[in-house]
Amino acid sequence: MGFTFNRKLPIPKEIKADYPLSANGRLQKEQRDREIRDVITGADDRFLIIVGPCSADNETAVMDYLHRLVPLQEKIRDKCIIIPRIYTNKPRTTGEGYKGMVHQPNPETAPDLLEGLIAIRKLHIRNIEETGLTAADEMLYPENWWYLTDLLSYVAVGARSVEDQHHRMTVSGFDVPAGMKNPTSGHMSVMLNSVVAAQHAHSFIYRGWDVDTTGNPLAHTILRGAVNKRGAVLPNYHYEDLRLLSELYAQTALQNPACIVDVNHSNSNKQYLEQIRISKEILNSRRYSDDIHKLVKGLMIESYIEDGCQGIHDKIYGKSITDPCLGWEKTERLIYDIAENC
Ligand code: PEP
Ligand code: MN
Repeated sequence: MGFTFNRKLPIPKEIKADYPLSANGRLQKEQRDREIRDVITGADDRFLIIVGPCSADNETAVMDYLHRLVPLQEKIRDKCIIIPRIYTNKPRTTGEGYKGMVHQPNPETAPDLLEGLIAIRKLHIRNIEETGLTAADEMLYPENWWYLTDLLSYVAVGARSVEDQHHRMTVSGFDVPAGMKNPTSGHMSVMLNSVVAAQHAHSFIYRGWDVDTTGNPLAHTILRGAVNKRGAVLPNYHYEDLRLLSELYAQTALQNPACIVDVNHSNSNKQYLEQIRISKEILNSRRYSDDIHKLVKGLMIESYIEDGCQGIHDKIYGKSITDPCLGWEKTERLIYDIAENC
């Protein structure tokens, strides 16, 4: 066997007991969950801005970034809800490279999975206690999601995971919104099928248990662009794409039709500055069509303190070590612009 079983890890209940969220943090989360849920159901017409680094690689820089969002959220609270991206699990195209804080709490040293599980829990707790802005994370490993169940207000299923049955069934038991991304091939039907699966109840094996889920009516779509068989990038944020998704939704019996547009990844071809233009184009499409206005309930933006990205050993404070991000000043301007035009 090519496996070495190094050590048995604590179960989620044990790590949660060692690193609990305060009573006040729990109250803040309930309130935020209600507000974000209301946007997805259409009861609240504010716009979601899911924004933050591609990967939460460094607690100090990430906390610095998160604190910058607080006054911004206060100023635009009537128009938008900011959900920070605190992405602690990173899918890699070839499996090479930094796999996120859960693997490497220190990106420059060897993986330490126990320390990683503790580090991601501590970071999400610090964020809630210090900023009140409960966050989004990607559910890359369904079995690990339970370590964070009481901390996340939004969960994304990535382009490489969205076809996987275990991901879909796990999402069907969440009580927070789950964004199902289009797969890297771009097929909208695959994305919508994943939402169908996530909105239905299932029985399956989870963490060694026989479990039932209720179905998650808050499961919805995320458009992130695609890549064709020759490797060419196919954006899917244009007016025609949004209209097509609206038409496809109308042919389904899905609850709470909703879409978030991820303006980086294959929508920008990782040209991070394009996120500004793309965001504005989407707001324009929303103004032009009532259907699109109703459907597109937010944007996902990759942003950090510094523009661009760097190698893992380059050590520029607040600069992404995974996908290139929009720097802070440009992000701040863009968020104000979104609040004025959504
Ligand atoms: C991400 O959000 O950083 C990401 C990896 O997204 P995707 O699954 O769309 O590639
Ligand atoms: Mn990314």
